[in-house]
Amino acid sequence: MSVVGLLKARALSAIDAHRAEFLQISATIHSQPELAFQEYKSSALLCDVLEQHGFTVERGIAGLPTAFRAAMHGVGDGPTIALVAEYDALPEIGHACGHNIIGTAAVAAGVGVKAVMDELGGRVVVIGAPAEEGGGGKVILVERGAFADVDAAMMVHPSTYTLVNRASLASMRLTVEFTGKASHAAAAPDDGINALEAVILTFNNVNALRLHLKSDARIHGIITHGGTAVNVIPDYAAAVFSVRAATQTYTEEVLRRVIQCAEAASMATGAQLKYSITPGYKAMIPNVLLGRLFADNWRAIGVEVRDALFNERMGSTDFGNVSQVVPAIHPYIAIASTDVVGHTVEFRAAALSPAGNEGLINAAKAMAMTTIDLLANPALVQDAKAELAATRERR
Ligand SMILES: [Zn+2]
Ligand SMILES: [Zn+2]
Repeated sequence: MSVVGLLKARALSAIDAHRAEFLQISATIHSQPELAFQEYKSSALLCDVLEQHGFTVERGIAGLPTAFRAAMHGVGDGPTIALVAEYDALPEIGHACGHNIIGTAAVAAGVGVKAVMDELGGRVVVIGAPAEEGGGGKVILVERGAFADVDAAMMVHPSTYTLVNRASLASMRLTVEFTGKASHAAAAPDDGINALEAVILTFNNVNALRLHLKSDARIHGIITHGGTAVNVIPDYAAAVFSVRAATQTYTEEVLRRVIQCAEAASMATGAQLKYSITPGYKAMIPNVLLGRLFADNWRAIGVEVRDALFNERMGSTDFGNVSQVVPAIHPYIAIASTDVVGHTVEFRAAALSPAGNEGLINAAKAMAMTTIDLLANPALVQDAKAELAATRERR
């Protein structure tokens, strides 16, 4: 066996030796779901475990009390590889996105790599990232420099497919508000200016636009204010749109055209338009080199994995922002059959099932093995960075 092969075998044994401990951590996080930025118990639990395993832990980083960073140094210089943990839950249905698996897998991978850090240069860091489901913890972490000294980053997400190289959509939010003029809806409609009609026209204009958009564009909205009484012409109405596409550039272009839809509605009705834009998550750039290493490691431990399809379905994640600044991967691991959908009670059950546990351990192993590949051969990290630079230029 090669030197790297021997190091990987040691890391895998270390993960297997602590298997029961890791599964207990995952079950504990699953049983005490905590919402965005309130993940105090889950974050403390992961920090405690990392400390027990010899990591130097900083609790509360980048001004976020439930974010953390745990570092383990090797012998001598080398790259810094980040394993990213999530541990937030959803309102009402708890861990229906399986972030208990993500958080535990990152910690388990760190413990695996730790077993061989006496033979490798560089560092492995576990970065605890709160609030993926709302709040964008990683957007803040990236902005405040938590990834500034990181050379490559990885995390895994439970799913119903095991695959690498899936991208994610860039997303932005647009709030539109129309102000008209109230009037009696039957006795004096000609005196009124209908703000609700402006919102309805905005939706209709957007629907007319859809045919002319590229297939990756997504526009979905809700009406947040639509009037207060049926016999009063609404003088105020508002809507929020989420606009997404495969690239930041195209997302901004689609957003501009949605604003034009609202401007046209304003002109048609006479209602005054005010709008505001909220930047969302950036598109994920899956690093192909890192994805290939990860898939090879998964296959080596018997996991079947495929590449994302050309037209793979996708959402958005704040890990997209990480992938724009460092080479990064976000592979998916199947923990349920393909008829189960994320964010449901069925998926929540899968996150604590034998398949979920198996997925967690296998994901941790592949992360540990890929980290060892990178620390043992830092030239790979340079190649991954060159790939990111070239990909960013093409966009
Ligand atoms: Zn989710
Ligand atoms: Zn998720």
